[in-house]
Amino acid sequence: MSTSQSPIRRHRTVRVPVGGIALGGDEPIRVQSMTNTDTADIDASVAQVAELARAGSEMVRLTVNNEAAARAVPHIRDRLAAMGIEVPLIGDFHFNGHRLLSDHPACAEALAKYRINPGNVGRGERRDSQFATMVEIACRFDRPVRIGVNWGSLDQDLAARMMDANAQAAQPKEAEQVMRDAMVESAVGSALRAEELGLPRDHIVLSCKMSGVQDLIAVYRALAQRSDHALHLGLTEAGMGSKGIVASTAALAVLLQEGIGDTIRISLTPAPGESRAREVVVGQEILQTMGMRSFAPMVTACPGCGRTTSTVFQELAEEIQNYLREQMPVWRETHPGVETMQVAVMGCVVNGPGESKQANIGISLPGTGEQPSAPVYVDGEKVTTLKGAGIAQRFKEMVDAYVVEHYRP
Ligand code: SF4
Repeated sequence: MSTSQSPIRRHRTVRVPVGGIALGGDEPIRVQSMTNTDTADIDASVAQVAELARAGSEMVRLTVNNEAAARAVPHIRDRLAAMGIEVPLIGDFHFNGHRLLSDHPACAEALAKYRINPGNVGRGERRDSQFATMVEIACRFDRPVRIGVNWGSLDQDLAARMMDANAQAAQPKEAEQVMRDAMVESAVGSALRAEELGLPRDHIVLSCKMSGVQDLIAVYRALAQRSDHALHLGLTEAGMGSKGIVASTAALAVLLQEGIGDTIRISLTPAPGESRAREVVVGQEILQTMGMRSFAPMVTACPGCGRTTSTVFQELAEEIQNYLREQMPVWRETHPGVETMQVAVMGCVVNGPGESKQANIGISLPGTGEQPSAPVYVDGEKVTTLKGAGIAQRFKEMVDAYVVEHYRP
């Protein structure tokens, strides 16, 4: 198994408790997600939070955009608790968060964390007082806050002031650089203001989300230099399908490798009908393939080539990967450590035996012109050769047996 990685020195940040877990400090990098249901639709929101939590999301954010949503939040929390799901819920507030949190204390209490966007709390004097109201409520309920700056809703007063100052400078910077500076300034300045209002340092998480990969990398490097607050990392509006996954991975991998980031969210646009949980799986796979955390057994599979005569091995690789992931909600409890297991499903004799020997358990399927048999390797040793129909089912049974035997509570 080629999983050894050079240890990453994490950027030192303050540990922030969120509900029953924590992020920052020495905590593992947390994967979180956000619902896309109408929060006021309690049934739909409970179902989606449960789906995200079962997929492994360690915090779930809901938009709290109106009275009905604020009223729904405590019911969502209670319904999830009745199902045995204690995932911390985060309230996402824009424009009217000060009013919703003031008018709905049960919502403020039910949420484990509040997200405040400094660009969307009002302008001028109202901005300061509305920001202060939200921070005071966070203090009263002892809840952490994410100060979440977003490129698309950057504090326009601050941006204008910084642009003006730059225009007067002896050596003005590029406008793009000033905007990046404004993102960081908005986050750091708002955190300072929140601390002045009494919010403890260990109750503050910062983010500066942008949709451009290079912008995001530059801004988070600057943010990490200026602050030791815990950092929420994510490429905003990453997009659909492979583009969203690739762009998020490209940006996050660079920063994570530099030790920057305490929690991640992958902002994918789901295809119609696609599960929202995909973004959780992608976040987990980024961290697991980088050797930073383990969430579910990984399947090593070759891409296939002219030596493969059928789609049998692709189907088997997919079937096994899906099967392993589906078992994880139960296996996490019954078979601790199974998340580190490596399974290989290979297409022919060229790399099949070698890769299979490196895995905990691996199978090398027959390629073109090879004997119609599939050797199976367990912990580097060939233990049997599967032949004929039902190879997939028998290999799955062997994987099950390996799990039961090797990962015990
Ligand atoms: S292991 Fe065999 S089938 Fe798979 S890519 Fe390599 S040569 Fe092709």
